[in-house]
Amino acid sequence: MARLLFISDLHLSPNTPELNQRFRGFLRGPAREAEALYILGDLFDAWIGDDDPSSFASQVKEQLAALTADTPVFFQQGNRDFLLGETFARETGVTLLPEEHVLHTPAGPWLLLHGDQLCTDDREYQQARKLLRSEAFLKQAMAMSIPRRREKAAEMRRMSGEATAAKAENIMDVNQQAVEETLLRHGLRQMIHGHTHRPATHEFLLDGQPARRVVLADWKKDAAFALSLDSRNGGLESLPIP
Ligand code: MN
Repeated sequence: MARLLFISDLHLSPNTPELNQRFRGFLRGPAREAEALYILGDLFDAWIGDDDPSSFASQVKEQLAALTADTPVFFQQGNRDFLLGETFARETGVTLLPEEHVLHTPAGPWLLLHGDQLCTDDREYQQARKLLRSEAFLKQAMAMSIPRRREKAAEMRRMSGEATAAKAENIMDVNQQAVEETLLRHGLRQMIHGHTHRPATHEFLLDGQPARRVVLADWKKDAAFALSLDSRNGGLESLPIP
């Protein structure tokens, strides 16, 4: 079967042993049978740089490298793992994708993206995003020692948790206009993204034509899903990960 698998928002860390094990099982099982695996960001709860010497980081790298020996794996950065880069790609064999990637399949094209860039109602977040993704910040961050980066990441997670708790629910979802503009810019009618932790398929009209937005599920201790796309007939299926 020509099955493409999509996952995002696993938020793996040394503190998520159950999820890490589930992910390992996924890489050894369903992912191996896929035509390709697409990780659309936030695989990690916080990636502090490709030079992270922790055993957690090297274990995940080894697991991915074992899969890429047989199955192509593509990676798009999320807002938690935007420091993941070319060194990681080289070490694991994954292919890094730009923040908006057009996937062409025999059943039609799809836009792939993490999804945080569509949450334009959250102005404060978008401003912070711009700053964090700037060359200047990246340089500054990578010049810090590993322990200092780890501290910073924890501090940022805490601040983001507080900000999130204080914000209205709808502000943190995607903005429909941003969705439509992004699709039109690429001349596309369908997208797959993660980030919002609101798994669903949204159907709407775009210039009078049917369009859709598929949102990936985040992984939880007790339930995790991959999205499966049959590249020949476009069939979509939510695949539970044991
Ligand atoms: Mn995210």
